[in-house]
Amino acid sequence: MYFESHAHYDDGRFDKDREEILNLLPSCGIDYVINVGCDMESSRKSIEMAEKYDYVYAAVGVHPHDAENMKESDLDELRQMSSHKKVVAIGEIGLDYYYDNSPRDVQRYWFKRQLELVKEVNKPVIIHSREASKETFDIIKESGVRKGVIHCYSGSAQMAKDYINMGFYIGIGGVITFSNAKKLVEVAETIQLEQILIETDSPYLSPIPNRGKRNDSRNLQFVVKKLAKIKDLTPEKVANITKLNAKQLFFK
Ligand SMILES: [Zn+2]
Repeated sequence: MYFESHAHYDDGRFDKDREEILNLLPSCGIDYVINVGCDMESSRKSIEMAEKYDYVYAAVGVHPHDAENMKESDLDELRQMSSHKKVVAIGEIGLDYYYDNSPRDVQRYWFKRQLELVKEVNKPVIIHSREASKETFDIIKESGVRKGVIHCYSGSAQMAKDYINMGFYIGIGGVITFSNAKKLVEVAETIQLEQILIETDSPYLSPIPNRGKRNDSRNLQFVVKKLAKIKDLTPEKVANITKLNAKQLFFK
């Protein structure tokens, strides 16, 4: 039923019940999960999980928060990892000028270098962008990468269209259920369902009615319900179309 396009089950917040939750997911309608790496260690763990669970796939990459610690040999290791049969994307990579955990020039440097890797290995990319919309867009455009998803999209409706025209999908998660999500609702109204992937970003960003609690993929139903309302479709239809979209992007 659901394709979870972005989760972090390697996160320490799942240490006590990771297996229990992952084992539960298929019976809760979660058909596929992409576990997304955000540093070298979580990229390795993502692959381990993908090897253990049929329905889990991995993305490998270094998040802008961790860009400062990245080194040349990491890029080589990511290249190696990306040839694993269950690694379906490079990510999450990008820019985060909200937290600024790494200096901005360092973030930009490793974002560009990882985008070169994306082109080289010809896999889709999972993009993280916060408070850096214009610069993220310009760097991607210049890189020539034309396949991926803008995860937890927070930009304008116009920019969403520009990304779609460039070959990207728009990732939508729990934020769409928040009462102050006017801008994101407008994005969802403007673009076609065929361009949307659903995600939780677990353990972060739980949708209403579970806002503030640890998130897991079982909460995808609330994202889907909200999208169904916006698009005036049944939740089943929204689940099916977004699943097809994700399969098209990651498995083709
Ligand atoms: Zn994430």
